[in-house]
Amino acid sequence: MKPAKTLCPYCGVGCGLEVLPPARPGRPVNRDGEGNPIWQARGDRDHPSSKGKVCVKGATVGESLDRDRLKYPMLRESLDQPFKQVTWETAFSRIVQEIQQVRAERGPEAICMYGSGQFQTEDYYVAQKLLKGCLGTNNFDANSRLCMASAVAGYIKSFGSDGPPPCYDDLEKTDCAFLIGTNTADCHPIIFNRLRKYHKKNKRKVKLIVVDPRRTDTAKEADLHLAIRPGSDVALLNGIAHLLLQRGRLDAALIDDCTTGFSDYAELVQHYPPERTAEICDISVQELETAADWWGQSKHVLSLWSMGMNQSIDGTAKVCSLINLHLMTGNIGKPGAGPFSLTGQPNAMGGREAGGLCHILPGYRVIKNAKHRRAIEQGWQLPEGSIAPQPGLAAWDMMLALERGEVGLFWVAATNPAVSMPDIERTKAALSRSPFTICQDAYYPTETAAYAHLLLPAAQWGEKTGTMTNSERVVTLCPAFRQPPGEAKADWEIFAEVGRRLGFGPQFDFQDAAQVYREFVSLTAGQLCDMTGLSHDQLAKGPVQWPYPATTCAETAADKFDKRLYTDLRFATEDGRARFHPFHAKGLAEPPDPSYPFVLTTGRLYGHWHTQTRTGRIEKTAEMHPHPVLEINPRDAQKLKIQSEEWVEVRSRRGYARLPVLVTQNIARGTVFMPMHWGFLWANQAEVNALTHPEVCPMSLQPELKACAVQLTAIQKP
Ligand code: SF4
Repeated sequence: MKPAKTLCPYCGVGCGLEVLPPARPGRPVNRDGEGNPIWQARGDRDHPSSKGKVCVKGATVGESLDRDRLKYPMLRESLDQPFKQVTWETAFSRIVQEIQQVRAERGPEAICMYGSGQFQTEDYYVAQKLLKGCLGTNNFDANSRLCMASAVAGYIKSFGSDGPPPCYDDLEKTDCAFLIGTNTADCHPIIFNRLRKYHKKNKRKVKLIVVDPRRTDTAKEADLHLAIRPGSDVALLNGIAHLLLQRGRLDAALIDDCTTGFSDYAELVQHYPPERTAEICDISVQELETAADWWGQSKHVLSLWSMGMNQSIDGTAKVCSLINLHLMTGNIGKPGAGPFSLTGQPNAMGGREAGGLCHILPGYRVIKNAKHRRAIEQGWQLPEGSIAPQPGLAAWDMMLALERGEVGLFWVAATNPAVSMPDIERTKAALSRSPFTICQDAYYPTETAAYAHLLLPAAQWGEKTGTMTNSERVVTLCPAFRQPPGEAKADWEIFAEVGRRLGFGPQFDFQDAAQVYREFVSLTAGQLCDMTGLSHDQLAKGPVQWPYPATTCAETAADKFDKRLYTDLRFATEDGRARFHPFHAKGLAEPPDPSYPFVLTTGRLYGHWHTQTRTGRIEKTAEMHPHPVLEINPRDAQKLKIQSEEWVEVRSRRGYARLPVLVTQNIARGTVFMPMHWGFLWANQAEVNALTHPEVCPMSLQPELKACAVQLTAIQKP
């Protein structure tokens, strides 16, 4: 049997996979998946983004297909009761009854849906139509709010539209790679391997700068590692700009002809002379000058970033400050250059294209724009005014609304907020206040299922056909290659059935996912992310990078994966010019003080992904990181009189965690690091978000999950 070609369902690198059926053909496999030996995954050499490469997560993902699957709808009336299996008929009737009751008694804004970058684009799209179009609430947000919201906000502010401009080919065309707030080696390993190989081969002419408070596996490869004080990124970027300006390393033609706002920006960066910047960032002046020299002398600067930039009260300011550097030096719209956000989830990009956040609509449109709303209403054949004019509730605002008792129905799908939200005890208390929560997931148990009244079994990756877009805008068709277990259904089918039962038959009259996709791409016409040339049939021939308008000649474009945005230096703003946005550094929302003297930083580990819904159920990845450890500098450990493997209690103003330590020089004094993957199902009292705070970036509404102030006490192993 031929292997199925698909995409890895973990990170936004989007590696192509070939999935092979169970190794022992002929073995009976029932519809519940029982008796199923393990599905095998391997790299797909034909995939343009990964060329056959795959990391441990992608290589082992087949194992997760048959572990702890939710197979049937389950219902209970209150959280202290056990679930009872029900039919889909009962489940759908109950959902419709709850929605109608909440809409009638409290209005549509009392309904919230929280989705995920695990959705395929078709799932995202149908959910937008249901919530924003038919129910009249923009309260759809996704876990991308915890991941890429600041990048989205920064791109829109600077370029007039979301959308990362570079492509992976640029990794091998740059002469200076500037990695900031990203442990790419662990979190996006296939991209990093590509960059590392190229850098090693071209040591003399290619510079690798890594900005990270920790000496990560990424930083160990750097020619220059700037171990800045957590939260000082904006100051660093402004300090580099100060030096570039001083040294005349500018692209004056680009600044004059293609941008606005440079003079205000140039004035602001005067406040960041080297000595002051170095002091704020806790690095040497020489290190700062080297970074500025390397950036300024390079003709092709490529910057990469992820959560270290985005998860911050300064998230949008950081992204805009980084883009400012690209604009002032002309590092945009050409090979080997540009600002490149590395997406955390397999289809967070597709979610953004489909309008899967509370402030946007399909085709990179924004809710606040009346013309954009009208275009989508017309596309959905809904009367004018169907889409509410104001953005809905973002992720953390949903938790606050739950806390205040303002939510009548909370629907969470393909994500696990009872682990991933900040201030987790407060989150759990808020979740427990929901009168009716639907949890739609492929797996059971999950931490969030503990707060649900109705569980809906979702078909996952490999059990439904749909599309996903990776970080470099490459769209891949991911076909179903096996039956979903039990009665699990595709997410989009569940949303469409609810829509039909609510009386929106014409809007949800989809025969299959291909039809959903056709409708979605038709709404991208004329937008930056124009994909009108795409269809499931076209994608069945292989992945395609957008933009891909209907006028594209398939024969010439299908095999090219080096498309960049803004090559003509015309941007998506009304006047076609990019914007400089001057920002001062705010620093951390919760800096250390005598009571909480350490800065806790958080992050991911190579073998795990998100809240371990999959990786915790796979032997190899679970064994790689069996429990969380706290990284601490030897001098801090000495003061606390602790050694590696001894235990500490980490306490913040919101809660505590207890775990063993790893004493390491890889982390600076005064800073400690804890991984983000463990919820209460996987580790007792070691939830990192028991410690984090919920302050958000005022522009992107992304919480500062990256850092908070903590105190440490040595304890006996519990
Ligand atoms: Fe999957 Fe990301 Fe690993 Fe590629 S790098 S195999 S997309 S987890």
